[in-house]
Amino acid sequence: MDFFSSLPKKENGRKMERTLSIVKPDGVRKNIVGEVVKRFEKSGLRVSAVKMVSLTRKEAEGFYAVHRARPFFGSLTEFMSSGPVVVMVLTGDGAIKKVRDLMGATDPGKADPGTIRRDFADSIESNIVHGSDAPETAAFEIGYFFNALEIVN
Ligand code: ATP
Ligand code: MG
Repeated sequence: MDFFSSLPKKENGRKMERTLSIVKPDGVRKNIVGEVVKRFEKSGLRVSAVKMVSLTRKEAEGFYAVHRARPFFGSLTEFMSSGPVVVMVLTGDGAIKKVRDLMGATDPGKADPGTIRRDFADSIESNIVHGSDAPETAAFEIGYFFNALEIVN
């Protein structure tokens, strides 16, 4: 199944892209879901699908499977299953890079001023937000949470 099949290649002459973002459990606990979504929307991205879910440990492990050999994998998947998260599909011109730029570096101490992680994150692990890092990972991650009928905008 191609989760991009319903996406027009171009809108107003610009190349559209979809990406997956997650407000992680720390972002939900800090009550800044709206703040994160507002920053995405203000940058011109649109929310094409959104839901709140509580990941089981196994579901978090599946999502971050690329990191399974990393020393922080256990701690990361425990954190990601520690409370509800908000998962969303965002669509727009250069959406993948746009979201990554708005998020800032993985380590909030190294993130640029004005980025979500610099403004709100407590640590390299509890860093508020996730964003897909490439078209292939976006396709996998969108399909992990949403079926084609759920991507409606
Ligand atoms: P994400 O994939 O969540 O968008 P990212 O692409 O900036 O973040 P990755 O290298 O993919 O960073 O790491 C995935 C997640 O694992 C990070 O967002 C963070 O929560 C956690 N993480 C990364 N590096 C470390 C580390 N050294 N120690 C603890 N946790 C880490
Ligand atoms: Mg990543």
